[in-house]
Amino acid sequence: MSDFQGKSVLVLGGSRGIGAAIVRRFAADGAKVVFTYNGSQAAAEQLAAETGTTAAATDSGDRDAVIARVRDSGPLDILVVNAGFALFGDALDLDPDEVDRLIRVNVNAPYHASVEAARQMPEGGRVIVIGSVNGDRMPVPGMASYALSKSALQGMARGLARDFGPRGITINIVQPGPVDTDANPEDGPMRELMHGFMAIKRHGRPEEVAGMVAWLAGPEAGFVTGAMHTIDGAFGA
Ligand code: NDP
Repeated sequence: MSDFQGKSVLVLGGSRGIGAAIVRRFAADGAKVVFTYNGSQAAAEQLAAETGTTAAATDSGDRDAVIARVRDSGPLDILVVNAGFALFGDALDLDPDEVDRLIRVNVNAPYHASVEAARQMPEGGRVIVIGSVNGDRMPVPGMASYALSKSALQGMARGLARDFGPRGITINIVQPGPVDTDANPEDGPMRELMHGFMAIKRHGRPEEVAGMVAWLAGPEAGFVTGAMHTIDGAFGA
C-alpha cells in the first residue's frame, strides 16, 4: 500500500465504477479526496459518507465548470481524470451533437483539467487520466468516436509531459481493457466477444485499475511520464 497521508486528490468522475474504486483506494491510503459526479447524486453522497471524502457536482461536459472545479480545489498533489463514456452505433447514424459532447467529456475536459491543475501543483505532482485500450485497438464497429477520444489522450500525455516535466509534474494514461462496471457489465451481451480477444478471459475489476493508478501516483513512479499503461488481460496484444 502507498501512503497518501495528507495528500490532496481530486478525482473527476468518481461516483461509480472505476472512479469510485479510485476514490476508495486513495481514501483508504490516507488522502484527502474530493470527487466529482454528474448524474449519480445518490451514489456520490453514499460514497462520500462511507469514505469520508467530498462529493461535488460538476459536469465534465462543461469546460468552464471543470476549470473552476480544479482551480477552486487549491494546490492538488494528484489529479485523476476518470469521467468518460462511449457511444455505440454506426458513425453514419450518430447525432453529431452527441459525438461533440463525447469529445468534450473524454478529451477537452482531461486537457483543460490537467493544464489547470499544473498551475498550482507542487513539485512531485501527478496527473493520471483514464484512457482505454481502445486508444490502441478498436476491433469492433460502431465505436469510432470513443476510439478517437481515447487515442487523443495519448498525444495529450506525450505533449503535456514535456510542458510539465520541468515543473516536476508527471502525466500518464491508464488504459484498461474490459472492466466490470455499469458501463460494461461482465454479465452483459458483449461478454463472449470481448473475452475472445483476451488472454485472461474475464473482465478486470475496478480495484485492479485503482491499484495501477495508486502506483503511478506514488513515490516509486517519479520517473514515469508521458506514457500509456495498459491493464487489459491482453485484449490489445
Ligand atoms: P461508468 O459509466 O460505470 O462510470 C462513469 C463515471 O464517470 C461515473 O462516476 C460518472 O458519474 C462519471 N461521469 C460520466 N460522465 C460525466 C460527466 N459528464 N461529468 C462528471 N462525471 C461524469 O464507467 P466506468 O467506470 O466503466 O468508466 C470509467 C472510465 O474508464 C471512463 O473514462 C471509461 O471510458 C474508462 N474505461 C472503462 C472501461 C470498462 O470496460 N468499464 C474500459 C476502458 C476504459 P455520474 O454517474 O455521476 O454522471
